[in-house]
Amino acid sequence: MSQTYDVIIIGAGHNGLITAAYLARAGRKVCVLERRALIGGAAVTEELFPNCKVSTLSYLCSLLQPRIVDELQLAQYGYRIYPKDPPFFTAFPDGQHLFFWQDLAKTQAEIARFSSRDAEQYPAYCDYIERLCAQLEATLLQTSPDPSDELLAFSQRSTHDVLDEWFESGEVKATLATDGIIGYNGGPSTPGTAYNMLHHLMGMAAGQRGLWGFLRGGMGAVSNAIAQAAQAHGATIRTEAKVERILTKEDQAYGVALVSGEEIYGSIIVSNAHPKRTFLELMEAPSLPSDFRGQMERWQTEGTSVKINLLLDGLPNFKAYPTEGLGLPHRSTMHILHSIEYLDRAWEEAAQGRCSTHPMLELGIPTAYDDSLAPAGKHLMSVFAQYAPYCLSDGVWDETKKNDFADRCLATLAEYVPNIYDIVLDRKVISPLDIEQEYGLIGGNIFHGAMSIDQLFQRRLSPRTPVRNLYLCGSGTHPGGGVMGAPGFNAASEILTDFATHA
Ligand SMILES: Cc1cc2nc3c(=O)[nH]c(=O)nc-3n(C[C@H](O)[C@H](O)[C@H](O)COP(=O)(O)OP(=O)(O)OC[C@H]3O[C@@H](n4cnc5c(N)ncnc54)[C@H](O)[C@@H]3O)c2cc1C
Repeated sequence: MSQTYDVIIIGAGHNGLITAAYLARAGRKVCVLERRALIGGAAVTEELFPNCKVSTLSYLCSLLQPRIVDELQLAQYGYRIYPKDPPFFTAFPDGQHLFFWQDLAKTQAEIARFSSRDAEQYPAYCDYIERLCAQLEATLLQTSPDPSDELLAFSQRSTHDVLDEWFESGEVKATLATDGIIGYNGGPSTPGTAYNMLHHLMGMAAGQRGLWGFLRGGMGAVSNAIAQAAQAHGATIRTEAKVERILTKEDQAYGVALVSGEEIYGSIIVSNAHPKRTFLELMEAPSLPSDFRGQMERWQTEGTSVKINLLLDGLPNFKAYPTEGLGLPHRSTMHILHSIEYLDRAWEEAAQGRCSTHPMLELGIPTAYDDSLAPAGKHLMSVFAQYAPYCLSDGVWDETKKNDFADRCLATLAEYVPNIYDIVLDRKVISPLDIEQEYGLIGGNIFHGAMSIDQLFQRRLSPRTPVRNLYLCGSGTHPGGGVMGAPGFNAASEILTDFATHA
């Protein structure tokens, strides 16, 4: 028998769950339909290795809006963050290392080992970034963002350009440049990466700007906490319920058809699925205005990131900062890169359809903070590697190509961490094609679409679509990707406004 809801949400990514929680909290009858057996989308914890809880894709939290955490009372449902200190550690090929700390004076002392001028500049740089982040923050929980001229001008610049203006040390610039390129289809010298840097700096783990942390229980814990909040308000969440088609009549959405053949009806349909999936696969062409369909066909969503999850029998011992047991590097985000030029070269290869010969590696060890993730004595390490393009010049991603790239990443790491081969017990490699096929992020772009200036602010998608009663709530909408929750919140706000208008 078919069922009827006020709202049907396609996809239980963290944004879909947030939309569900807010609408259920407002008294609406809500049903969330997730195609996978597990909720969370890209914010998920899976048992990739026996008795281990692995954050398969996203691995750190900072951007989740404090208002959402408070209003949905997520702490009550197990949301707990371990802010990293030190936030960053970079190992350089000449044996030097650089830490960034939560404490400003300690960071300045570190930077001073490379440049006393940069150390003096650093507080003013932080103030400058703070001013821009405050401007960006003001646009997040809005559906018609109106960024300031200063913010717009900054967003069009390259990370390299910005950092050159402030610093002279190559080591300091390279370390700070990583935020500009994570998930970006471009190198630090690509215009637009300055925005990407700000996007990664605007968060507030533990109330400190730019700070990131691990979640107790892995990234799936945030999705589970939101789901519990939604369920506490009466929302229904179904897994293994893949939507095949959005049902429309006279340009108006009225339900969904599942692959099982079941039809479910709703006054409002909201899609957390990728915009290309929503408009180009789940809907029939005549239901959409042709200019909008064209915009969706042109939506840029190619990714260049590979995630490698490692099970370790010990801890990596860095040549640049030897440790016995758990040490400071392990508590930070560890970077392997030489310089801005190294990163640009790595990107240039990807732009030609080849995986970087010398990739950038961002490493994290959540078991350094959270003993609930792996059996005693074992550690998990996430390796986020760039660049490995979705579109390869010599074919498509397969097991051989994945393993070749993972071998290259480990060989790069071994130059800095000689014991790495001794401690790796197992690995799971996730290519851009896997990110698309298994997790639904089309093109492997980790943000549901490039975070470039032509797809940001008012040029990002709106929760409102050209189809009546159909809304979007995922990262393809403003303010974009990351485990931030703002797209889900914004969709719920628009829908509640519309319910009130039509009441
Ligand atoms: C490798 C990687 C690393 C990342 N690292 C970080 C990080 O450390 N920190 C951070 O903040 N962000 C990170 N991100 C980005 C972040 O995880 C995503 O931008 C964000 O989680 C997307 O959330 P979402 O709810 O918008 O969409 P998604 O999480 O993509 O959720 C969409 C949901 O819709 C479901 N769905 C799709 N089609 C259908 C259908 N037909 N029927 C039913 N269900 C459907 C999908 O299965 C999925 O569950 C990372 C992403 C990746 C891929």
